[in-house]
Amino acid sequence: KQGKKDRAFKIYGLARDFYHFLLTKEIGIGAIRYLESRNLTDKTRETFELGFAPLGWDSLTGFLTAKGISGEELTKLGLVQKKESGGYYDRFRNRIMFPIWDNQGRVVGFGGRTMGEDNPKYLNSPEGEYFNKGQLLYGLHIARKGIREQGYAVLMEGYMDVVSTYQHGVTNAVASLGTAFTRDQGKILMMYTHDVVIAYDADTAGIKAATRAADILQELGCQVRIATIVGAKDPDEYIQSHGLEGWQSIIDHAMPLVQYKLLQAAQKHGLQNAGAKQRILREVLPNLASVASAIELEETVKQAATVLQVNWETVLEEIKKYKRNSR
Ligand code: ATP
Ligand code: MN
Ligand code: MN
Ligand code: MN
Repeated sequence: KQGKKDRAFKIYGLARDFYHFLLTKEIGIGAIRYLESRNLTDKTRETFELGFAPLGWDSLTGFLTAKGISGEELTKLGLVQKKESGGYYDRFRNRIMFPIWDNQGRVVGFGGRTMGEDNPKYLNSPEGEYFNKGQLLYGLHIARKGIREQGYAVLMEGYMDVVSTYQHGVTNAVASLGTAFTRDQGKILMMYTHDVVIAYDADTAGIKAATRAADILQELGCQVRIATIVGAKDPDEYIQSHGLEGWQSIIDHAMPLVQYKLLQAAQKHGLQNAGAKQRILREVLPNLASVASAIELEETVKQAATVLQVNWETVLEEIKKYKRNSR
């Protein structure tokens, strides 16, 4: 079993090396130009082991089968696909390749970005024995050190955000691989820190997904803040125009989850009367009830009371009632 695993990691590593090597060749010039158009440096290409999958149908297939690896095995690893007529062809063609590592830094799959307008924009490895999106955090083995040094992690949506902000000095960011953030991902992240800032894209989908991820992390006992990216689509775009200093101010203004939800609910319901306040409070009661630390709870209760313009004792009473009823 272990032998089989090691062999899989070795094959993914060979694929990564192949794609990465092609960036240094004539055939990779278009890919280099694309990466330059995204302002990514050669150092960043090295750190994140970026690569290029050429347009041909059997580039990787040819390279790996020549090393004695069967098309059958490569199909199981999600690197190639089987033709109806027999034979195999490359899954990734004409794409920028992002190796995706497990939490120990072993390659277990790839994300491939088109350099044009093809659909899908990102093609990922298929879910399989080694590639489980819900259990991987992109860039974790690279960000581990930064998370430890800074005492918190930043959770982003896309690998491009992690790669680009890292280049600007944000060394504590990981990405959830676009899918909905899972409890498993939360547990993995919490092996490194209990303090997370969520910096998802600024669009409606991003805002929704951020709140969901925040709920999961808070329920697991994490301290969560939600950052709001202003004047840009995502962390990549933001840091390109505002640099690391601008980024720091985004982090400094990130809002604790309960406060974030309160302000959103206050915008929705208004604060005119007791009924509206009750509705707002109801939206955040589950979050208030699951705040893990007593100190944080006290602070959060006071913040909630301020927003609602009621006494903090009232808020505390509502939390108690909620807890009694949900038992
Ligand atoms: P770029 O700046 O290159 O457009 P991005 O990170 O802004 O990249 P988003 O469209 O915001 O890309 O998507 C965020 C993440 O969602 C990606 O990193 C990828 O993991 C995932 N994703 C996006 N589109 C797809 C897709 N069509 N299929 C699978 N995953 C996707
Ligand atoms: Mn290199
Ligand atoms: Mn982007
Ligand atoms: Mn984006």
